[in-house]
Amino acid sequence: MNLQMDGRSAEQYTSNAQKIRLITETWVNNNMFCPYCGNQYVSCFENNRPVADFFCPFCREEYELKSKGGFISNKVNDGAYNTMIERITSINNPNFFFLHYNKSNLQIENLVMVPKYFFSPEIIEKRKPLADTARRAGWIGCNILLNRVPNEGRIFIVQNKKEIPIKQIIEKVHRTEFLRSSKLDARGWTLDVLNCINMIEGKDFTLEQMYRFEEMLTIKHPDNHYVKDKIRQQLQMLRNNGIIEFTGRGHYRKNQ
Ligand SMILES: [Zn+2]
Repeated sequence: MNLQMDGRSAEQYTSNAQKIRLITETWVNNNMFCPYCGNQYVSCFENNRPVADFFCPFCREEYELKSKGGFISNKVNDGAYNTMIERITSINNPNFFFLHYNKSNLQIENLVMVPKYFFSPEIIEKRKPLADTARRAGWIGCNILLNRVPNEGRIFIVQNKKEIPIKQIIEKVHRTEFLRSSKLDARGWTLDVLNCINMIEGKDFTLEQMYRFEEMLTIKHPDNHYVKDKIRQQLQMLRNNGIIEFTGRGHYRKNQ
């Protein structure tokens, strides 16, 4: 993987947005492998397909690329709010690559893949409608709130200008693949509980500590009156899928 992007291909463009789109897409096209199956490359969709930018010709996973110059940030601008929510609820949103590069020398600093099943309406923030004076007055865009994605779903490919070994990346992707088969609502619970676990410092934690999140989870899921049961059910599920271990009598350990 060459972490230096090449700006020459975009010289014919005058718009900066177009330039950077071409530069980053060319880079992904030439350097990126498929984080699911390890295929050596992902291919560009021809034309501007609305759903995704890249796909893996081997396993058919689809990827959308979002890139940004400067620091990694927790909020990433995306397209229309309603479209995004529809895609998430009908589970046809693609996986995402979030690429952060250095504006002055076009070096890749961070590249994070977020699997599609880590997307829930919860991580999508509605932006203010565009002003009446704007060309698309009333249009509502959205932000993706990356900090609400549990660590397990933020898969670094490049971190602080260093490549992460492919084997490690693929392993991390497959650890949470069980989420793929759960429905949006069930997945929402799993992601919430996973976020709570991550909020507890250290490797070991107790059921008691998890119950402290009851109030917070009740606010998020006001229709559910058995939040403690739900927490235990999710812990069981995460144990069955190897994300955590039971160490006995209401004690748990995170599997790193
Ligand atoms: Zn693949």
